[in-house]
Amino acid sequence: MKDINVTPEGSIYGTYLTDFGAWGIQTRNVTCFLLVGSKRALLIDTAYGEGDLRALVESITDLPLTVVNTHGHYDHTSGNAFFEEVWMGEGAAEIALGVETRTKLPHPDYTIRTLKDGQEFDLGDRVVEAIAIGAHHASSFAFLDKENRTIYTGDELEAAQVLLNVRRDDLATKEIVKLHLANMRKLKERSHEFDRLVPAHNGGPLAKSYIDDYIDLSKAILEGSIKPLETVAGFGWPSTIFGGDEKLVRYHLGKATFVCNRDQAVI
Ligand SMILES: [Zn+2]
Repeated sequence: MKDINVTPEGSIYGTYLTDFGAWGIQTRNVTCFLLVGSKRALLIDTAYGEGDLRALVESITDLPLTVVNTHGHYDHTSGNAFFEEVWMGEGAAEIALGVETRTKLPHPDYTIRTLKDGQEFDLGDRVVEAIAIGAHHASSFAFLDKENRTIYTGDELEAAQVLLNVRRDDLATKEIVKLHLANMRKLKERSHEFDRLVPAHNGGPLAKSYIDDYIDLSKAILEGSIKPLETVAGFGWPSTIFGGDEKLVRYHLGKATFVCNRDQAVI
């Protein structure tokens, strides 16, 4: 039988099992996570819609599956239409339904269900809570696996940097920094419930102190005690991908980095 997840260029997906009870499903620069419980499984994000993500997931577990998105951006939602139903935050649907791959996948008209802050997914022997943390995108949710003391943060805390608003221009950077700060304070209040942060890009897991680093950076930006740096391209990207150095600035303090749109920035 032909393996649709292998092309002449190589495997589309790489998989690994972590010691915090998650399967990582890696493709290009993004990681989806599959949490398998005793009764159900939860897939966090669906990446780029290539190959057959569903067949890959079903090769790991045959339990009933719930699918959620950390936010609406295409690198997290383009594979949604492999599945009949997907949960996402308010504001994610218009992006998720706009991605081109959807129409080529088995369920182009999949059912969209809207996540609520505090909503729980019971997988049997593990419960996962959805926590609203919109800033990088308004639709962002974190997912807290309580039994394994792990929180999945999507792109609101990615490793090495946060692309704060490189794809968002509906608010001034200062307003988005305020949202990010409030969200990080919300996660800090819950930090006795988890031991690690797991982002969707650039590796991880991350130490919990990463939250404090971003709180300090946001406070410094809002107080005006830090200036943006002129050397700006996001880590791991050619400077042209998000519009180039002319479009972006970088704020950096301690271990925290925000990449922002220059024309909205708090200069
Ligand atoms: Zn992303």
